Amino acid sequence: MSSVVVIGGGLGGLMTAAILSKEGWTVTVLEKNPVIGGGLQSFTRLGEVFDTGMHFVGGLQPGGSVRRICEYLGIVDRLHILDADPAWMDTVFVSEDRQSYRIAQGRDGLVESLGRYFPAERDNLAAYADAMYRLADEEDIFHLRPQGDAAHSPEFFLPAGAFIEKYIRDPRLRRIVAYMNPLYAGRPDTTPAYIHAIISTLYMDGPSRFAGGSVRFAHTLRDYIMEHGGRVLAGDAVRTVRSEGRFITGLETEHGKAYQADAYVCAIHPCTFFGLLEDPSVLPKAYRERLEALPNAYSAFVLNIKFRKDSFPFQNRTTYWVAGYGEMWNQDQASSWPGGIVAVTPPDLDQGACAGKMILTAPMAWEAVKPWEHTVHGHRPAAYEAWKTSCAELLLDKMEEVFPGFRSAVEGVNTASPLTIRDFYGVKEGSLYGFSKDCHDLILSNVPVYTKVPNLFLTGQNCHLHGFCGVSLTAVETAERILGRNVIRL
Ligand SMILES: Cc1cc2nc3c(=O)[nH]c(=O)nc-3n(C[C@H](O)[C@H](O)[C@H](O)COP(=O)(O)OP(=O)(O)OC[C@H]3O[C@@H](n4cnc5c(N)ncnc54)[C@H](O)[C@@H]3O)c2cc1C
Repeated sequence: MSSVVVIGGGLGGLMTAAILSKEGWTVTVLEKNPVIGGGLQSFTRLGEVFDTGMHFVGGLQPGGSVRRICEYLGIVDRLHILDADPAWMDTVFVSEDRQSYRIAQGRDGLVESLGRYFPAERDNLAAYADAMYRLADEEDIFHLRPQGDAAHSPEFFLPAGAFIEKYIRDPRLRRIVAYMNPLYAGRPDTTPAYIHAIISTLYMDGPSRFAGGSVRFAHTLRDYIMEHGGRVLAGDAVRTVRSEGRFITGLETEHGKAYQADAYVCAIHPCTFFGLLEDPSVLPKAYRERLEALPNAYSAFVLNIKFRKDSFPFQNRTTYWVAGYGEMWNQDQASSWPGGIVAVTPPDLDQGACAGKMILTAPMAWEAVKPWEHTVHGHRPAAYEAWKTSCAELLLDKMEEVFPGFRSAVEGVNTASPLTIRDFYGVKEGSLYGFSKDCHDLILSNVPVYTKVPNLFLTGQNCHLHGFCGVSLTAVETAERILGRNVIRL
């Protein structure tokens, strides 16, 4: 085998294709949108470049696992990133008591920062932070180590809420340490402790932001693939996937183009992929039904804000607004929306002291847009537009609590709802991160990168971990399945 067609030009598809290109494969990536990148895509509105789904990322610090992949590809000098301020990387603002918590980077940063607000819990915080790093260390793929057979510790599979309660006594602190949960759509009773630990430690070790738009990283991967003789074709969706016997034999696109290869990589939501199969029975019915039944992570409402010139200071950190301590784990379903907001000011290439823009991401359940689920972009009714405007106003009100005078800095806004996310990414229910992981049913919610079809492989956020780091690491695993073990020398 030496040729591959990849369905989906998001991070998962592009990263898998780049690795296979480096190893000498002939690669074709097919992307439905006119612009490549999926979650890496950026767009220009109101004269500013806004990122769609990659507002800050982990794993790019020296020694970080995604940086190591970039070193292997030889593209580190093409990265344009700005690291968050290590002394103050996050603010958690709890609206209920108007308390603001400043968090510094690293294991010691977390202990020292929160220890100041909860001095009696300092030792517990240290034990909790150490336990999180221990759990993260159990996941071989997270460290790009060959996957071993060592059994996981019992804590690994605990529900995240129970894991926290094991170490932390103070009821408010138990909620505060879960402040990053919009980054993995966590639920205290079902999200496995290892997901909480991996995502928390990933960002504790130092979040970075793409400067000048995350799509630059997609372009870097595209250029790399093309320099190695591959193709990245945008603006034409895969419509039909053909099979014969136990093998995939070719694809057809909306524009009527046909593609064939030795191997095929599905880098889109698996449930979307099932709908493309000419003969769905090429994949076992039980497998399809199992994945169709898996719950997906919640969606979000996004408000993109353009600031008046020189009116709002650049924030080299992330601000988490949360309605109350009790809302920390259910921000999408809070009795009164929004339950939480993640606010970032993405840097420009020549970032100065003032921010040109801010992106607010507020967890939102799919049910909020159900009345309009059968409408399509460009033809949504006036009631939907009015609802979006009222959501935007609520988010601006909440920012006023954190940054008094906020509204006076706003020049214009642009919104995206769970419907936008569903239609843009082609992902079920506008889910931010794909399939939810459930510690009571881990085998069901960990989707392998191989399938019963010998020349069909999966990649992207629905296998293992989501996000910039998780998807990049899964790309290595998918490429390794295709190439064979120990071919990729990272
Ligand atoms: C609003 C939002 C904010 C986020 N913020 C962050 C963040 O700050 N940091 C972080 O690490 N992660 C973040 N994420 C998650 C991150 O964006 C995803 O985990 C990641 O981009 C998933 O990559 P992927 O390649 O698996 O899927 P995608 O990026 O969704 O790529 C799939 C691609 O397949 C294409 N496609 C679909 N159907 C077809 C078809 N039939 N034919 C051809 N192409 C098709 C889609 O257009 C898309 O480009 C966020 C997600 C969202 C939605």
